[in-house]
Amino acid sequence: MSPTGENGPLFDLVVRGGRVVDPVTGRLGRFDVAIAGGVVADIAPAIPGDLATGVVDAKGALVVPGLVDLHTHIFSPGTFWGVDPGPTAWRSGVTTWVDAGSAGAYNLGALHRLCGSFPPLTTRAFVNISSIGLVAETGEGRRDDLCDAGLAVDAIEQNADFVVGVKCRLDRAVVGEMGIVPLQRAIEAAAAGGLPVMAHIGTGPPDIDEVLDRLRPGDIVTHCYTGQGMALLDRSGGPRASVVRARERGVLFDVGHGAGGFSFAVAERMLASGHVPDVISSDLHQRSVLGPAFDLPTCMSKFLALGMSLEEVVQAATVNPARAIGQASLAAPLAIGGRADVAVFEVEVGDFALYDTYMEQRKVDRLLVNRATVAGGVLLPPVAAAPPACWIPSTDRQDDVLHRDAGELRRPWATLLTHPNDFVHLPLVGPPI
Ligand SMILES: [Zn+2]
Repeated sequence: MSPTGENGPLFDLVVRGGRVVDPVTGRLGRFDVAIAGGVVADIAPAIPGDLATGVVDAKGALVVPGLVDLHTHIFSPGTFWGVDPGPTAWRSGVTTWVDAGSAGAYNLGALHRLCGSFPPLTTRAFVNISSIGLVAETGEGRRDDLCDAGLAVDAIEQNADFVVGVKCRLDRAVVGEMGIVPLQRAIEAAAAGGLPVMAHIGTGPPDIDEVLDRLRPGDIVTHCYTGQGMALLDRSGGPRASVVRARERGVLFDVGHGAGGFSFAVAERMLASGHVPDVISSDLHQRSVLGPAFDLPTCMSKFLALGMSLEEVVQAATVNPARAIGQASLAAPLAIGGRADVAVFEVEVGDFALYDTYMEQRKVDRLLVNRATVAGGVLLPPVAAAPPACWIPSTDRQDDVLHRDAGELRRPWATLLTHPNDFVHLPLVGPPI
């Protein structure tokens, strides 16, 4: 048999020379990954490049399963926060995008249909307990009639292959006089569907202890390192007793970086107390994609700087989010027959500055920079950054980035946006702690 097989190349693509870190199978070490027909066709220490139509040079790089971003907003156009995943997916390694409540019962069908246009990316969604979802910036939980658990259950049933949980934002601006009621309704709907609740925390009321004590095993707290009034710290600077209780009974903690919900100071204290996040997610949306969240690998780099190991941050962005929504198969194994979702990263070593959502800077010495992203066996081509929606302010520096060629944008943010004045700070209700 000729090296290319009797009917042409054996493989569509070979990812060659990389260091595999696969928390799904536990495989670690130098392996080549061959892809054919959208699945992993072979994985071995050396697979000749001439057996494939295309080769991804991963020499010296990290090769991991395609990332699963548990908290994103991809309902664009149609909502205040939504972004198109295309301009970020190809340069971030994120192959599974979970929308966190952009749509409620009234517009879930539209989001579901929109996500059908994103192949080869995999998409899932939390349905918002408010029937209108995140059409507007905030306030979706203020009206009793919009927080209709029965309607949410109907929407879940009609989109059963798409919905993975129920989202509820618990924040003074979101719920107003409704207080804890939206959470009660979200739990009611989630329980009927056998799904988790994802609870957003920010500036209370509601009271953080009341929220945490109501969450069930498997429910998810997002923005878990918020520096706002619902922060997980007590007065002594350690985790609140309600946090310890929640963790003990199996409540999960998700980073959800975003534009208002990530404080280095809070994360440092929580990690020093042994509170490592279960899931690292970006909360990618209109106000975070131009910084300081940027994308999931940049968020993961912040947790490398906070002391988590490379293996731990990869696990928190692949296996853990997939399990959190009861769909372990979304973290695709780097093994024969596995869906070919593969992310290749450079671990750049240097002196970099990254910011939290309060414009507090930390120096980091390692940065995860994506080199290639393969989704469903397809090597994703460069896609130019999208300009923000007309209601989103941007700085001159951010506008400069938007005019760059897509090919230059693999690590645009780290090189071009390096000062707090390069970002638009999200105005929040109440001061950060
Ligand atoms: Zn969000």
